[in-house]
Amino acid sequence: MEMDLKEPLSVLHDKVRDVLSLELSAEHLEKFEQYTVLLLQRNEQMNLTAITDPAEMVIKHYLDSLVFVKWIMHYYPNGQIVIADLGTGAGFPGIPIKILLPQIKVVLVDALAKRIHFLQEVCDSLGLKVETCHARAEDIGRSKAYRQRFDITVARAVAELPVLLEYATPLLKVGGRFIAAKGIDPENEITLAKNALRILNCEVEHVEKYSLAEGADNRSLIIVKKILNTPAQYPRQAGKPKKTPL
Ligand code: SAM
Repeated sequence: MEMDLKEPLSVLHDKVRDVLSLELSAEHLEKFEQYTVLLLQRNEQMNLTAITDPAEMVIKHYLDSLVFVKWIMHYYPNGQIVIADLGTGAGFPGIPIKILLPQIKVVLVDALAKRIHFLQEVCDSLGLKVETCHARAEDIGRSKAYRQRFDITVARAVAELPVLLEYATPLLKVGGRFIAAKGIDPENEITLAKNALRILNCEVEHVEKYSLAEGADNRSLIIVKKILNTPAQYPRQAGKPKKTPL
């Protein structure tokens, strides 16, 4: 597939500098270019993204994912941490995070096998050392190998906050953070999640509101800290958190 990605990647470079005060190197940009080509190629065979215009992809997928980097660097400036991206889909925000912060151990989790196979191909092509995990978040949250092993869990566009908290916080170490990408009204989501926060021994530490471009939708990140161990009965069996949220 022939495509000219020079202009969108130059926009990405400038936006990342202006909005996030981060500098993308030539190597970073090359990886984003390879990722874009693979995404668009494989998107013709499977459903990976509804956004197929590279100019839109760089803002709505890459820049939107890189907002997480600012907060990861804020909490863990030396980067020696383990992160899980739950419901990563085509790799957002996990792949852009790994491109910028290669020293972090990243586990990409998704319930759909074909997306996980795609992500394995992306990581092999881009030379990224990432663990891919074909599983439901609820199942790994109940398994010894993953429960309470992560410094940070992240999720974008996966579920409502009460459901996400039950997926994400059992995987965290005590003191770890869950970062959720949300929309225009994070306060309402937090109100709906009051019960889940209490039951799961967590508290909201920070809410960041931002806009990626002039006229673009307002977005937010909700950062939740795990204060004490998760009670042993959570997460409930796969499907339950979504069917009957806490
Ligand atoms: N995070 C990506 C993004 O922002 O573009 C993908 C979002 S997509 C709308 C939601 C993804 O979450 C899908 O790939 C789906 O398979 C996955 N998913 C939904 N529930 C899940 C669960 N309980 N455990 C693991 N993956 C899940």
